Amino acid sequence: MICVFHTQDFGKVRAVARGVRSTKSKFRGQLDLLNLGELIYNEKANRELQSVREFDLIDNFDRIKANFNLFTYACYFSELVDAMESDGADNPDVFLLLTHTFRSLQKMTDLRLFARAFELQLLQISGYAPDFTRCGTCGRSFTVNDVNLHYYDQSGEIVCTSCSTPQLVSLSRGSCELMRRIQETNFDRLKRIRTSQRNQKEMRFVLSSLISFHTHRRLKSLEFLDLVEKDKW
Ligand SMILES: [Zn+2]
Repeated sequence: MICVFHTQDFGKVRAVARGVRSTKSKFRGQLDLLNLGELIYNEKANRELQSVREFDLIDNFDRIKANFNLFTYACYFSELVDAMESDGADNPDVFLLLTHTFRSLQKMTDLRLFARAFELQLLQISGYAPDFTRCGTCGRSFTVNDVNLHYYDQSGEIVCTSCSTPQLVSLSRGSCELMRRIQETNFDRLKRIRTSQRNQKEMRFVLSSLISFHTHRRLKSLEFLDLVEKDKW
C-alpha cells in the first residue's frame, strides 16, 4: 500500500508499506486515514517512493471518525494540506497546524467558521494570505469609509473602490475585517466571533477561489462537504 505522510521534519513523504492487508501485518490498523504516529522509513536518495519500516500509532482520532460531519471536515483539511504542500518541502508549522486542528475539531461549534480559520492560517503559513488591511493595487490602508471592497480572484488581492474594475467581485469591509481577525485568533477563541450568512458566504468565496488559484485543482473533499452542508448556504 502506498501512503502519503505529512511529517514535522521532512514535509510530505510518500512511502510504501508492505503486507498491510495481511492479518499478521505489524501495520494492521496503524496506517488508516488521518492517523497520527511516529514514522520510521528507509530513505533512498533521488527516489520518489520511500519504504515504511515502523509506524507507532499516537492517536487515531477515533472520536472524529465516529462523527460523519467531523470526519468530512478532517478529510477536507488533510486534502487541502496535501494540495498546498509540495513533496520534500519541510514546513513544520503546517504539520503543527494540522495536528492542532484535529485535536481542536471536536470542541468546535461552528464548523464552517472553523474551516475558514484553518484555511486562513494555512494560507498564511504558506505565504499566500491576502492583505486584509490595505489595497493590493494602490497600497492605501482601508478605513471605515471603505464599505465596499473588491476581490480580484486571479491574484487573490483585495482592492479599494477607486482601484476596482467592473470584473471584480464586491466584498463587504466587514467580511474583510473578519478574515483579518480570524487569521490572528486562537481556535479556542473562535466561539466569541459572530458571523452573518453574508460574511460566511463572502469568506467562503474569497478563500476557496484563493485556494484553487494556488493549488490549480478542485478538491474532491470540498465538493463533498458542499453537498453535505448545502442546506446551510
Ligand atoms: Zn486602491
